[in-house]
Amino acid sequence: MEPLIFEKSRPGRRAYSLPPLDVPPQPLEEHIPPRLLRKHPAELPEVSEPELLRHYVRLSQLNYSVDTGFYPLGSCTMKYNPKLNERVASLEGFRYAHPLQPQETVQGLLRLMYELTEALKTITGLADVSLQPAAGAQGELTGVLMIRAYHYDRRDFQRRKILIPDSAHGTNPASAAMAGFEVVTIRSNAAGRIDIADLERHLGDDVAALMLTNPNTLGIFERDVLTIEQLVHQAGALFYMDGANLNALVGLVRPGDMGVDCLHINLHKTFSTPHGGGGPGSGPVCVSERLRPYLPIPRIVHRNGRYELDWDAPKSIGRVHSFFGNVGMFIRAYAYIRMLGAEGLQRVSRDAILNANYLLSRIRHVYRQPYPEPPMHEFVVTAADFKAFGVRAMDIAKRLLDYGFHAPTIYFPLIVPEAMLIEPTETETKQTLDAFAEALLQIAEEAQTHPELLRSAPHRTPVRRLNDALAARTLNVAWQEGSAVYHTNPAP
Ligand SMILES: *Cc1c(COP(=O)(O)O)cnc(C)c1O
Repeated sequence: MEPLIFEKSRPGRRAYSLPPLDVPPQPLEEHIPPRLLRKHPAELPEVSEPELLRHYVRLSQLNYSVDTGFYPLGSCTMKYNPKLNERVASLEGFRYAHPLQPQETVQGLLRLMYELTEALKTITGLADVSLQPAAGAQGELTGVLMIRAYHYDRRDFQRRKILIPDSAHGTNPASAAMAGFEVVTIRSNAAGRIDIADLERHLGDDVAALMLTNPNTLGIFERDVLTIEQLVHQAGALFYMDGANLNALVGLVRPGDMGVDCLHINLHKTFSTPHGGGGPGSGPVCVSERLRPYLPIPRIVHRNGRYELDWDAPKSIGRVHSFFGNVGMFIRAYAYIRMLGAEGLQRVSRDAILNANYLLSRIRHVYRQPYPEPPMHEFVVTAADFKAFGVRAMDIAKRLLDYGFHAPTIYFPLIVPEAMLIEPTETETKQTLDAFAEALLQIAEEAQTHPELLRSAPHRTPVRRLNDALAARTLNVAWQEGSAVYHTNPAP
């Protein structure tokens, strides 16, 4: 193993050279309380510039990314992020803009945000959009707060419940609970769709909204959505749709036509802005006429040939993000939408659905689909049948790393035992899909002949299998000599 940067350290080596100080040194005590000052200099590695560079480049190469390989992480839409988006986002006028700049000097940026809003209205068929939320989960919270404001405005204070299917993403119940609602779980039926009888049983004048994901997290389209919408509205509740996974719908189906009142979309999934690693996301929230008055402020408006910020919305829930949201994401999403146009966006959805169906058809005889419906942009299979060999979904996922692939989402959705949620996205070639299918089929063979190979996987990665529960509970990312590593199996 390559020595760590601390082990390469030699006294006096430097990776920088600064000109000599030509101002009188300032005593630190004048600026920092002495009790906060270091007693000894920090023990930093002393290395040359090339060693420092190699250290960081090597670390970056240990990372797996969508730019290095196939990333079938279901419900995450890890598609290729076109590099043109990055070029556009780093144009000087955008890069150096300051959020407090006078509006006259950022007309181009305001126009871009306005036009992105218009594009998202067209795509979703909804009346209006706020770009402020910084992630899907924050879009949900924003939406649920607007739903609360809507009911309070009508003095409908008794609507305390939000109904959420058992297949939903965990952020849905979390967002509803954060906004003070009681979460009620609705069952899925044998076909993997929401159980309408169970929904009807729970609907009443104490329900504020239904939060539905469509296609749901099993990758199945809720084809009774119009019936569902009618039931919800007849009960005086609102219809929230989790649109994080819009990759199956863009250009084909508009949530507005399904009677949706509120929808969040993730620019960092469908609209090809980078994500993962906790980087900035963007979760715009789109609303029907009903919820329009409650949208966050300021709104960007176009008046007399100028783009302006409008704060005049007395019923608004207020701000949910400083300034405008994560503007760099808007630029990338805008570039992507304009580059593809209406036809291109429709093709994205069609190809995403085609790729998912093709991949499923290659592995379905070995990896069972618990709800055998034709999937949309992603699908769920179960590894439960491998339990007979002492192999679990986790072992298959870890073994995939040895084959050079990122693992799919596992153990989600919660209603499928040993679930594997696979989303290939539209940007992969048939050859990549075939290679991934071959790897999965070979691993299925190994499960029967060498199950221990799977149980001790991965074998070829920089670190072996980690004890993630231990790592989460006693996280320690600081290097110390002989510091604990969260391995469950010994290093090679
Ligand atoms: C990704 C996702 C979310 C949450 O989005 P974040 O940006 O991660 O907060 C919510 N619902 C579904 C269905 C998702 O796939």
